[in-house]
Amino acid sequence: MPAAAPPTILQIAVPTPLYGSFDYLPPRACDPATLRAGMRLKVPFGRGQVTGVLLGVSGESRVEVRRLRPASQLIDTRPVIGADLLALGHWAAHYYHHPIGEVFSALLPTLLRQGKSPEEGNDPHWRLTPAGRAADAAQLSRAPRQAALLRWLEQQPNGGTNAEQLAEQGDTARAALRALLAKGWVEHYDAPPLFQHAGTEPTSSLDLNATQSAAVNRVCAALDQFTPFVLEGVTGSGKTEVYLELIDRVAAAGTQALVLVPEIGLTPQLLARFAARLAHPMVVLHSALTDRQRLQAWAAAATGEAKVIIGTRSAVFTPLPKAGLIIIDEEHDLSFKQQDGFRYHARDVAVWRAHQLGVPIVLGSATPSLETLYNVERGRYQSLHLPERAGEARPPRIRTMDVRHKKLNGALSDPLLKMLAEHVARGHQVLLFLNRRGYAPTLLCHDCGWVARCRRCDAHLIYHQAQRRLRCHHCGGEQKAEPYCPACSSEELRPLGHGTERVEEVLRAHFPDYSIARIDRDSTRRKGSLQQLLAEALRGEHAILIGTQMLAKGHHLPKVTLAAILDADQGLFSVDFRASETLAQLIVQVAGRAGRAEHAGEVVIQTHHPDHPLLHTLLTQGYPRFAEAALTERREACLPPYSHMALLRAEAATAELPRDFLTEAAALAHQIEHRGVELLGPVPAPMERRAGRYRAQLLLQAEARTELHRLLDAWLPQLGSLPRARKVRWSIDVDPMDLT
Ligand code: ADP
Ligand code: ZN
Ligand code: ZN
Repeated sequence: MPAAAPPTILQIAVPTPLYGSFDYLPPRACDPATLRAGMRLKVPFGRGQVTGVLLGVSGESRVEVRRLRPASQLIDTRPVIGADLLALGHWAAHYYHHPIGEVFSALLPTLLRQGKSPEEGNDPHWRLTPAGRAADAAQLSRAPRQAALLRWLEQQPNGGTNAEQLAEQGDTARAALRALLAKGWVEHYDAPPLFQHAGTEPTSSLDLNATQSAAVNRVCAALDQFTPFVLEGVTGSGKTEVYLELIDRVAAAGTQALVLVPEIGLTPQLLARFAARLAHPMVVLHSALTDRQRLQAWAAAATGEAKVIIGTRSAVFTPLPKAGLIIIDEEHDLSFKQQDGFRYHARDVAVWRAHQLGVPIVLGSATPSLETLYNVERGRYQSLHLPERAGEARPPRIRTMDVRHKKLNGALSDPLLKMLAEHVARGHQVLLFLNRRGYAPTLLCHDCGWVARCRRCDAHLIYHQAQRRLRCHHCGGEQKAEPYCPACSSEELRPLGHGTERVEEVLRAHFPDYSIARIDRDSTRRKGSLQQLLAEALRGEHAILIGTQMLAKGHHLPKVTLAAILDADQGLFSVDFRASETLAQLIVQVAGRAGRAEHAGEVVIQTHHPDHPLLHTLLTQGYPRFAEAALTERREACLPPYSHMALLRAEAATAELPRDFLTEAAALAHQIEHRGVELLGPVPAPMERRAGRYRAQLLLQAEARTELHRLLDAWLPQLGSLPRARKVRWSIDVDPMDLT
């Protein structure tokens, strides 16, 4: 008797928050020889059907084979996830200790996750033919739906439509369209691809200066091997020109360049600059795309057709069959870290990818993160310097303004007000920065001491005067601001402190003759309003700009000659050990907004602590020396990058549950080999209650990354079976950027 052939077991990543893949049998009537890792299959899971990704095929299973269910259907004829992304997904799931099914789910555009075919991204278009244009809808009196569609098409720009717009015309529009196609009044045509071209001849490149050329040459000498570079150049030193030159060369050679930018940095200004300078097919991946557009861009990258791929954090997972170069602009920016769900750091993932793909990666910043500088110090990354501003602009003068004992006019000291008046009188622009939106961070009753607090968070409600609302900036809760105290009915309610809305009011009182614009999340809620405000600012329409960090980054505003940080003290005394680094980066960014063109700039930092050593080093000796000093502090305190962290968070409806769960988790860790790993906590989170849930955390810290990960490997898979695991929501954050 012949031995039975071993069964074919499919290992499938299924989108579910459980570690590991799931075993299935091949779909009935499917030749197992056609299966390739990276193909998608529909599989039964729980009570429903989900889309999974085939990771591999094996002859055995941990489960008894007769209990395995067959997959329902093979979706793809070719893998949608190539070998490199498969390896990336495996690595990321392991490194970030995140369920592999959710990782692969994050790798795919939404439509592919839903089981649609990559061709769904193709955007079919239809338009009126000359006969259709000449036709009279009145002839169709017996086919009112066709008549309606014809009239509607006539009103569309160039008489065309696509599937998405057509679907909005109702269920019968498809049938009507078919009838018009049959009459020859409408025709199908290939939509222009989603490429962002200026469509004209690209603008010629600038003559790079000596340091820019040197940087370009160094990277170009390493184009076919993994080499991480740090492009450290002061704001306005021409980093973007260096990127453009590199991308142009890479794309001209037929390879692809992936460019990651911070969320706030992906501005129409930047895209216009790319489109004007590069004559290569370029796709942009950002959150405002429809699912179909996102898939289209993804597919153009996957075929290698798109040579330039520019996007925010999640674009790091774009397929790059012809990878040539990866660039991370503003690499220090915290928006590269995903803060919930699959918590990855796009910069670190990008470095791993560059290594895997064997291409150089350029991490650019005026203020590189301490992690990155540490890698330079250890000789892992090569550094490229652009020490001076390109073009005519001179570096600004930065100084602190001691506000102790000084009269403050709504967060503005007298001397600052005076400077402001001088700058606007000369016809220049002024930019004021305050990282607090709303009118006042606290609303207090002067008669009984009542303070407006969020019912669901350990936080004050922020008073928004224009809408007369009290809002919680942590849970999004809000309520009407009554004109009297809910505790004692007094009308003596006092707003305490200043947000951007209140500063705007103060400015209007002092400068009634000048146009003032506020730029923060509240004033830019409407789509396109940020772009509009910035365009107005660029045209010089507003003399004074007040805003939050939205305003601090990336925008080129040549008329700004004075920039001020109204309150630097928050960043100096925070519980977060990264706060001083973030503040220093912010100060340099804000300073970079001043004097970008022919006028010299001035920067003022208001503080109660002008002698703070950090501020002092930064302002007298510059960011590189600040970073050196900050790294020394980190080393002495054994903080990252001199140690590695993972944070186990837990939350529940009571304060005890998360702490008890974490105590159990800590006890379990102590039973496991955990040499070299320190366990700190559990402690309540800095803001214990948020959105009605109590939160606690357990910090793991180790000098050696391998020791930390050895413990995590053994420990995390067991957490789910702890007695309280089912009563709390818990998550692990590897390399946390935020310990709150
Ligand atoms: P960064 O990205 O470092 O902030 P940019 O590349 O935006 O700097 O350059 C700042 C300004 O200097 C831009 O207006 C740019 O056009 C100009 N610039 C950059 N490089 C050169 C150069 N080699 N010659 C003349 N102007 C330059
Ligand atoms: Zn009161
Ligand atoms: Zn709240």
